[in-house]
This record gives sequence, C-alpha cells and structure tokens, in this order.
Amino acid sequence: MRIALFGAPGVGKGSQATFLSQNQGLEHISTGVILRSALRSGSDVGIEAKKYMDDSQLVPGHIVRVLAEEAITRNHYDHFVLDGYPRTIEQAEWLSEFLSEHEAMLQCVVNLVVSNEIIVGRLSQRRVHIETGENFHLEYKPPPSGIDPELIIQRKDDLPESIFRRLEVYQKQTHPLVDYYKDKNLMVEVDGVGTFEDVHARILSTIYNFAASE
Ligand code: ADP
Repeated sequence: MRIALFGAPGVGKGSQATFLSQNQGLEHISTGVILRSALRSGSDVGIEAKKYMDDSQLVPGHIVRVLAEEAITRNHYDHFVLDGYPRTIEQAEWLSEFLSEHEAMLQCVVNLVVSNEIIVGRLSQRRVHIETGENFHLEYKPPPSGIDPELIIQRKDDLPESIFRRLEVYQKQTHPLVDYYKDKNLMVEVDGVGTFEDVHARILSTIYNFAASE
C-alpha cells in the first residue's frame, strides 16, 4: 500500500502515521522527522534546513525531494505512508514523476480535517521525543514516566507565534494540493477530531473502502 497523509500542521498526521506503521506494517516516512534528525546530526542538509524550520517556513523543495526519494527507495517503492510530503504542487509533481518511473503510483491521499482552533490547542501542548520522533500531548497522551525528561522537548516551531505562521504557510503553499489531488481522484477526507483510536479506525476504513472501489 502506498498512501500519503495530508493536512495542516497539528492535524495528527505524525501520530496517525505512527499507528499505521505499527498496525499495518507500513514504513512511516516523515520529512519533518528526517529533517529534524539531519538537524541534530549537524549535517550540511540539517544546517541549511534549520534556517527555514526555525522561521516556520518550508525548507527548499530540492532538499526535501532528495530525502523523501531516498526513503522511498530504501523501502523498495511500496508499503509506506508519507507524512508531510508532498507539501507543494511542485513536490507533488516530483513525487508523481518519481513514483511513476517505478510503477508505484500513490493509491490514496488522506486529508485529515481539523479546525484551526483545535490545531492551536494541540500544537501548544505537543511534546516530542527527541530520538524517536514520537509525539505526545501533555493532557491526552503524556510521555510515560520511565522516559528521561530531557529527551522530551517542545519543538521551537510549536511555540505560539510560530504556530500561526505555519498555519499561514500551510494555507498558502500546501492547501492548493487539496484540489490537485481531488482532480486526480486520489483524495479522501477524514474527520481528524476524536480519540487517536477513533481517527485511526476512520482512516483504516476509508483507505480500505477507497482501495476496494478502485
Ligand atoms: P508539521 O506537520 O507539524 O508542520 P513536520 O514535522 O511535518 O511538522 O514539519 C516540520 C517542518 O519541517 C516544517 O515546518 C518545514 O519547515 C519542514 N518540512 C517538512 N516537510 C517539508 C516539505 N515537504 N517541504 C518543505 N519543508 C518541509
């Protein structure tokens, strides 16, 4: 199965992609997680990306493209869930070209829909495990007590002033992909409000119904 999770920052793409990878055996490919790991390792890519990420802007597409294509290649072009890629029409075109060269077109793009009000609440309470990339929520999914607290951080881009900038960037640069994928009959909408389990169940039934109707 080859799917992409789509939606504004904070809709739960990362948590749901983690669930899908654990329950459905799909590889979770998150450009955000890959970029943050490059940033921590101090690689050239990480140093370049940091400037944009700290400013809540999109990292230049050519950088993200290479990272996403490498990860898909490592996974033999199948059994993956993309999270955070593509994020612009240009990236979607690159992805489509790349996957079609390997006869492995995307089968479904799941658009997780959550209101901005809920998103702001979620992101300001979000914490992330610095090594695994796993997301927590201070109220609904607090980090387990056994974890070293120093490994649980608040992302710089989850600070209040950054959240609004990221939502603006999403609206301007990423939201146009909704029509792009609707035109290709690849997009399905899923209500992203509810417990992790409820949303997960909705995603599963949506992708299986979608696959069955193809
Ligand atoms: P979120 O979905 O919550 O914004 P991510 O972890 O997906 O978080 O992304 C964090 C940051 O990494 C983004 O704000 C952006 O700077 C960068 N990034 C991730 N994916 C892409 C992409 N496909 N294109 C450009 N920048 C990206």
